[in-house]
Amino acid sequence: MNMKLDPWGSVNIDDYSKLFDEFGIMPFEDICSELPDPHRYMRRKIIFGHRSYDLIKDAMKNKEPFSVMSGFMPTGGGHLGHKMVMEEIIWHQKMGGDAFVGIADREAYSVRGISWEKCRQIGIEDYIVSLIALGFEPDGHIYFQSGSENVKDLAFELSAKANFSELSAIYGFSGETNVAHMVSAITQSADILQPQLSEYGGPKPTVIPVGADQDPHMRLTRGLAHKMNMFRIEGREDKDKNKFFSVRSKAAPEGSLAEIAERLPWDTKLFEGHIDVYGADDYNKLLETVREVEIENGGYAFVPPSSTYHRFMSGLQGGKMSSSIPDSLISLKEDPKLAAKKVKRAKTGGRVSLEEQKKLGGEADKCSVYELLMFHLVEDDNELAEIYDECVGGKRMCGTCKALASELMEEFLTDHQEKRELAKDRLDDYGL
Ligand code: SF4
Repeated sequence: MNMKLDPWGSVNIDDYSKLFDEFGIMPFEDICSELPDPHRYMRRKIIFGHRSYDLIKDAMKNKEPFSVMSGFMPTGGGHLGHKMVMEEIIWHQKMGGDAFVGIADREAYSVRGISWEKCRQIGIEDYIVSLIALGFEPDGHIYFQSGSENVKDLAFELSAKANFSELSAIYGFSGETNVAHMVSAITQSADILQPQLSEYGGPKPTVIPVGADQDPHMRLTRGLAHKMNMFRIEGREDKDKNKFFSVRSKAAPEGSLAEIAERLPWDTKLFEGHIDVYGADDYNKLLETVREVEIENGGYAFVPPSSTYHRFMSGLQGGKMSSSIPDSLISLKEDPKLAAKKVKRAKTGGRVSLEEQKKLGGEADKCSVYELLMFHLVEDDNELAEIYDECVGGKRMCGTCKALASELMEEFLTDHQEKRELAKDRLDDYGL
């Protein structure tokens, strides 16, 4: 099956493992065990995949600089799905990452026709206030795409490296697609690469936590990062099977390759357009030297961004969670008591009768109430495992879960909304 991921459309990705084969996304569980204190989304395989997350893991471990970046399109109604991304950003910020949050108003304007004033109002009220209430610290960066000169300038430079065929292949753009929509795709690449600009400390690993439908942006941006870099480092082998590195450039300023060769402690051979490096036993040192010369010559030296991919929650009535079906989701501004009632009406994985449930057990894997507990409401893994075991073992009835989940949801929303009121008075601390 040929899967097409569309960040602007609604998708139903029913088999996440296909993403590993078709798009080269790696399973997250392999890397999760190496993290000191993984987030519950990581422990519970809700974050199921990644690209190059080993760079982030190593930066966290070695206390080296890294960034986390994600964005929200201000189309209205921050809900539990958005809370997932917010929590992932905040977790990486707590782990030492320099955190960036972009409000994608250019995207909302070009794709949904939302006015700039409305974008600003929704961006602050529905996303930024909740982000702060959930614990985003003021040393992070919150910005609107339309107000960031950095992002606009970088988007322009990136657009010189992208062409229509490439964008159509990734996003399915056609002759009818408006040009602003294409500009907004490139603007998101600028959002993703912005943390590596010199004013934010230069090149560094950057992780973008997203839903699986956002992978097209990642593929485009990783490709652009490679194209923007002045030099390319390749591992090669000579005819005697000796391994060596080759540093190549089509447009390097005169003398810059010789400058790299001079700074390296290994044997080098200089050719027209490239140098070969023999006996290099420290790839990071090689990379660092190449980057130094790159930046001194006014070039970019982007590390292709890393990403994590999370599963989507299903709708409370089963099927997809959708902003156009209010009963399918819980908004972060929703009346806590009404939200608790919604939880009580949610679709469960219960059987048709109590007798059958006792005999066969419930189907927790198909239960939206269990999903709420797993994604948002129960932090303790043992407590969650107990609920699961009791359900599938026929010892737990759906009424107990619904009562628990609705009570916890009411508590969470009451607390979150109190924190939102406090956050509204702290917007100045975030430069807003
Ligand atoms: Fe879902 Fe709980 Fe019912 Fe199991 S017992 S199907 S987890 S509501």
